[in-house]
Amino acid sequence: MPSEHARLSASGSKKWLNCPGSLRLEEQFPDGGSGYAAEGTTAHALAELKLLAATGHITKEDFMKRTSELETDAEMDEYTEGYKDYVLERFAAVSAECPDAKLSVEERLELSEYVPDGFGTGDAVIVGFHVLEIIDLKYGRGVPVSAQDNPQLMLYALGALTRYDWLYDIRKVRMHIYQPRIDNIDMCEKDVDELYMWGSWVKQRAKLALKKNAECAAGDYCDSGFCKARPICRAYNDEKQRLAYLDFKQPAELSDDEIAEVIGKADELAKWAKLVSEYALSQAVNHGAKYRGFKLAEGRSCRTYTDEAAVTERLENAGCSEDDIITKKLKGITEMEKLLGKKRFAELLDGLVIKPTGKPVLVRESDKRPELNTSDTAKADFEDIINGGK
Ligand code: SF4
Repeated sequence: MPSEHARLSASGSKKWLNCPGSLRLEEQFPDGGSGYAAEGTTAHALAELKLLAATGHITKEDFMKRTSELETDAEMDEYTEGYKDYVLERFAAVSAECPDAKLSVEERLELSEYVPDGFGTGDAVIVGFHVLEIIDLKYGRGVPVSAQDNPQLMLYALGALTRYDWLYDIRKVRMHIYQPRIDNIDMCEKDVDELYMWGSWVKQRAKLALKKNAECAAGDYCDSGFCKARPICRAYNDEKQRLAYLDFKQPAELSDDEIAEVIGKADELAKWAKLVSEYALSQAVNHGAKYRGFKLAEGRSCRTYTDEAAVTERLENAGCSEDDIITKKLKGITEMEKLLGKKRFAELLDGLVIKPTGKPVLVRESDKRPELNTSDTAKADFEDIINGGK
């Protein structure tokens, strides 16, 4: 029976495939849940129920009962509806070529042929003659997740091939990311042979990651994969210090390539400094750690009311009007959209929401935004910023 907590997870695979030592280092840190994780779990549960109801696997009554037990909102309802439609469209396309096509929802996929004790959950797995499709719902609204060479999806595809290849003679695999909250839908298609070849490499890397002396190698996955070992990892900190060294040079002393490296990493450096500071604070508060040149002190604080109802009552008794003492504020756009759902928000507030032109920023060439092609426009905007809009 595979362990429910496989040490090498599919979701963290980009990290341990590239940095075998990350497994050993991360295991020193406790798991921390988050509000976002709970929200993502609910969205997946709702999406699963919608697909089960749409394909006749549960009754309408069952669907109503089970959804009533979930803490959902209008936004989640709308986004999972879009996901359900997307999955059903893909299923219809595969069924058109293969009447025996199969759609399974939240299917447990065994990965142990490639990763010891490994398993994953395919949000939607569609299989037809010669073709397999994997659709992964991502409910985050942070960074867009790419489907291209995504190791989590490729591992799920290998798991599904283990189960279905002998039956459907699969030749092509399509792997989809459906990330509705930031309108990110991405798809990557691969030949089965390429996936199997990659699977052989995965087996070697998994063995390496399970070794006690596995080495660490830093890369973009340290931050994008939220590696818990970052504050203490030598490889990660060496890499940041190398960049920090460039950052402290006078800009005029840097070559164009070094400048490109610094601006590409400026955010990372700021996050690294914050990460190390937070770790040091937690060690000092919880374990009495001391750092040369630093001490624990009480942080600055602001005055606060002890009892808002009592303050209101006392001020009203003293003759102050409600308008004088209470500030009412319209909910922000994100919160309002969450409350109303995207469709209703767009209908009700048609013409009342604008998106002003953004100020010029330097972004990577891979960024999907088109390049600003007139230096005059950028210069005018830039001068506006420097002059503080005067
Ligand atoms: S921070 Fe990066 S280099 Fe260090 S263990 Fe984590 S993934 Fe590996």
